[in-house]
Amino acid sequence: MIYLDNAATTRVSPEAADALLHYSTEEFYNMGGSYGAAVAVKNAVEDARAYIAKTLGCAADELYFMSCATEANNFVLRRAVKSHKSKIVITAGEHASVYETANRLKSKYDLAVAPLTNEGRVDKERLFSLIDKSTALVSLIHVNNETGAINEIAEITRRIKRLNPDCLVHADGVQAYTKLPVNLKSLGVDFYTVSAHKVNGPKGVAALFIRKGISLNPLVSGGGQEDGRRSGTENVPGIMGFYNAVKYKRDMVVRLSEKRNQNVLLRNLLSEKIAGIKFHSGEDASPYIISFSLPYARAEVLSNILSEKGLIVGLGSACSQSKEINRVLSEMGVPKSEIEGNIRISLSDTTTDEEIISAADMIAGEMFRFGKR
Ligand code: PLP
Repeated sequence: MIYLDNAATTRVSPEAADALLHYSTEEFYNMGGSYGAAVAVKNAVEDARAYIAKTLGCAADELYFMSCATEANNFVLRRAVKSHKSKIVITAGEHASVYETANRLKSKYDLAVAPLTNEGRVDKERLFSLIDKSTALVSLIHVNNETGAINEIAEITRRIKRLNPDCLVHADGVQAYTKLPVNLKSLGVDFYTVSAHKVNGPKGVAALFIRKGISLNPLVSGGGQEDGRRSGTENVPGIMGFYNAVKYKRDMVVRLSEKRNQNVLLRNLLSEKIAGIKFHSGEDASPYIISFSLPYARAEVLSNILSEKGLIVGLGSACSQSKEINRVLSEMGVPKSEIEGNIRISLSDTTTDEEIISAADMIAGEMFRFGKR
């Protein structure tokens, strides 16, 4: 099986799987306990927090573990804005966990949505035109999960803060973390979300950076875990799995250059084999994600055929259960007919060149099935 839907989720790495098992069956203690075995677990989790914080360029006490990135994004959207007269600004390229949540808050706050360029990045000038004295929060995606388009978070945050120094900025870094150099100090954001299952860690664990000094009323209250920000017994196996997934990754510079080469290889092979193919991911997008439309093909039919033959590719966002037309592509101005032929291929750190070559052959090999629409 060739798996090229890694933006949806990734295989748990062997080191992460070992940690999951160990902290489920051996060191399974509640880290809130006062006996030695529980304290050892707490120390292990604090080491994990410190390590992940260091990879993000923040302090350990600015990083909070949550149950998923969707929860972290909800927490920020629902709690960072204190006054009902305030405005929230998001982009049209947000993941549903931000987009849908912001739309649900429309009765409480003003909501403004900044449009995308044809390359899938936020239109910066249109975004800045939405920032005024009433803007309390801007939430924007770092790397788009559909197209890999990269928003220049540092530059955008700087401009937002110049326009309104009190405005808080959240970036959803789920598709960026470990795949782009991320340094929260230089990004200048107040909140940043990452998720374990996109980086070869387990599902059901994520981390949220909250800049020191920012107070948020918890979304999940109770026993006061995670410094009162997120109650509930800590998911120790998940956290330790997350940590071990990140800790044993190969050097990012090496991985990035390998993925850039694979990205170019795939584009070249597909362009050679399929006349009329259209790429929606720019060449400056994340090398891990390549979105394209095949002429005449219905992507859903094609992906079912491919999966039976042993190739798994993505169709729009797997996070979205809705059958509506792909919002992000349609906001980029991609016509409906092309959206119907859209495939998203997303690579992992372990994807090989051989897999890329076979995938291109298999996709091109099935195109004969589709006549002109
Ligand atoms: N944000 C982005 C950009 C994503 O791609 C996803 C999942 O696809 C999420 C948030 C949600 O992550 P989780 O599954 O951890 O809730």
